[in-house]
Amino acid sequence: TEELMLRSEKLSVAGQLAAGIAHEIRNPLTAIKGFLQLMRTNERSSDQYFNIVFGELNRIELILSELLVLAKPQNSMFIKTNLKKLILEVTTLLETQANLNGVFIETIHSDNESILFGDPNQLKQVFINLIKNAIDAMPKGGTVRICTSLMEDQIKVTVQDEGEGIPEAVLKKMGDPFFTTKEKGTGLGLMITYNIIENHFGKVSLISEKGKGTTFTICFPIKEGRPVK
Ligand code: ADP
Repeated sequence: TEELMLRSEKLSVAGQLAAGIAHEIRNPLTAIKGFLQLMRTNERSSDQYFNIVFGELNRIELILSELLVLAKPQNSMFIKTNLKKLILEVTTLLETQANLNGVFIETIHSDNESILFGDPNQLKQVFINLIKNAIDAMPKGGTVRICTSLMEDQIKVTVQDEGEGIPEAVLKKMGDPFFTTKEKGTGLGLMITYNIIENHFGKVSLISEKGKGTTFTICFPIKEGRPVK
């Protein structure tokens, strides 16, 4: 019975995801269809319609590209990955976006080398998602602090923001497919992030305090450069 239960649980996640995808893509498609029809009958404002149609197509593209990240773990490449270097690449990538929002990214590494056995592209995605969320959490600016520390059998990474913190109702739903509180969010970032961390045998937890901010903590197991199963 245990195995059966596990399987039905899996089915319901797939079903939830399928329903979410259908809904998320049907909405922009309906809009595109409607505006294309309007463009045919009303030539004068076709410029305006064009922008809406283009925007909706971009949204579908964004949702699909995020879903493709989810599909990738099956052919992932696990190699020795320097976590310090990887985080530097990610923060460099996000620096402009942070600056534009008055956010300063600070990175503090323990002195030791942090070599992890994993898929660099997927691991990058984890930090891109967490740091982007941290930036979004501070509309008035602030500091995102990323700390790494090497412990005996694991690498610990924390991503800390100075945002408003996360209300209870949001906490419960975070990581559910398509759950978002943002106008332009997809609600896929955390689901993908949790998925990748799990693929790396890691653990993730978070602490959030109203008015003070949120800290995500990730622990990746290491043993002579290999993950502990
Ligand atoms: P998206 O960023 O597209 O909304 P995510 O899955 O990454 O999708 O996040 C889901 C929701 O979780 C966000 O809309 C936001 O409400 C909440 N959230 C995630 N990270 C943070 C954070 N650091 N501070 C406050 N809220 C957060």
